[in-house]
Amino acid sequence: MTTGLAHLVPYDEAVSRYEPVIGLETHVELGTVSKMFCGCPTTFGLPPNSAVCPVCLGLPGSLPVANRAAIEYTIRIGLALNCTIATWCRFARKNYFYPDMPKNFQISQYDEPLCTDGWLDVMVDGQTFRVGIERVHLEEDTGKSLHVGGATGRIHGADYSLVDYNRAGIPLVEVVTKPVAGTGALAAVVARDYVTELRDLLRTLRVSDVRMEEGSLRCDVNTSLAPHGAAEWGTRTETKNVNSLRSVERAVRFEIERQAAVLDAGLRVVQETRHFHEDTGTTTAGRSKEEAQDYRYFPEPDLVPVAPPAAWVEQIRAGLPELPAARRARLQAEWGLSDAEMTRLHNVGAFDLVQQTVAAGASPAEASKWWLGELARHANSRGTDLAELPITPRQVARVSALVQDGTLNDRLARQVLAGVLAGEGEPDGVVAARGLAVVTDDSALTAAVDAVIANNPDVAAKIRDGKIAAIGTLIGQVMAATKGRADAQRVRGLILQRLS
Ligand SMILES: [Zn+2]
Repeated sequence: MTTGLAHLVPYDEAVSRYEPVIGLETHVELGTVSKMFCGCPTTFGLPPNSAVCPVCLGLPGSLPVANRAAIEYTIRIGLALNCTIATWCRFARKNYFYPDMPKNFQISQYDEPLCTDGWLDVMVDGQTFRVGIERVHLEEDTGKSLHVGGATGRIHGADYSLVDYNRAGIPLVEVVTKPVAGTGALAAVVARDYVTELRDLLRTLRVSDVRMEEGSLRCDVNTSLAPHGAAEWGTRTETKNVNSLRSVERAVRFEIERQAAVLDAGLRVVQETRHFHEDTGTTTAGRSKEEAQDYRYFPEPDLVPVAPPAAWVEQIRAGLPELPAARRARLQAEWGLSDAEMTRLHNVGAFDLVQQTVAAGASPAEASKWWLGELARHANSRGTDLAELPITPRQVARVSALVQDGTLNDRLARQVLAGVLAGEGEPDGVVAARGLAVVTDDSALTAAVDAVIANNPDVAAKIRDGKIAAIGTLIGQVMAATKGRADAQRVRGLILQRLS
């Protein structure tokens, strides 16, 4: 067990003295219609133990048959991650006892994974980190235990436990990175952005619904620290089942702060599994890590080897969709945005929103301006993601069009966006209901201009004398008198005309 530490070393200080190395193991539930080794459905939310059969219940004499679609999906992922696809590999039995695993072993892949040695580029703060992919392998999920009667939902204190085997045998892909070194202070962000990029990639490949909150994408995060210049990397811990992008970053941060304190105290980091606690942002020690030999892996005798023909692999490669990085590069060229703008769009998750806004008729510059500016500000103050704001790309495009045709200025447009976000309806309706259109009626505007000139004879005199800079005061007052509904350029023109 770990030593309970009275303090942590603040992250920035920890990464200034120690070199972090991270690694990520991501479990992805594949979106196949049936399970990995039987024909049971994978539908979410079925009544407990209704999607089971002798194979996934591990009844004696039943024999598994590998799901071709799951193998195809895994190859698709491997190709998209620049991996080598095995020409021949086998499943392996991973032996351990747990009540949610009816066979007492899990069929997985061990020393012969289907995909090996690839990479995924992750862009962080304009810097590209190439994250090495060690392996992509296929396995089956376990069932789910439900502990009833305790306060925490854990087995401790529970009156009894129930097991639902609907999930047993659902195909899972595990994507394992190589150790990622050299990230320094960016370690926690690189970890988060890697998972973000992987999630986008998997979504584009249409192999999984990648919903972290429903558990179809789960991460284990490895972290180690070593003093700068040390000959070897530090001992790593594995934080299990980190279930949101934000938690990935927090888990790495916490482990770096904790391990730095352990090392500062002259102690050793214990190699162990740790649990991340969403509420406190901390990790606590779980069981000490099993070694591979504890699982007594051996080749699965009930399944034939997997030997995907080269022609099939090439057919899958040819059918790959445009991948997120390539799509970003293409759209950046089409839209003419800078690297910094693209990075920001990516970081705040506005990429698809901007694309849809452009598709609805806005210019790329206008679309990214609204999403990165005013709408990002609203999302921030509400504490939600941009995509969750109650406004559609089509509505943003409409506001942009109203600015382009002179109905709105930027200030009024911000009020229209606020109205749409407040549930007041479509942009045109908000303009009408709030009376937000720019005053185009010249007589109304001229009256306002004349009143302001009359109230500021000294300023008017300066402008007549050629001190044009003074005009700002008058424009400001006209804008105030019209509650911001005048076009500033037009007001300027009218004032100059009246004073000439
Ligand atoms: Zn089954």
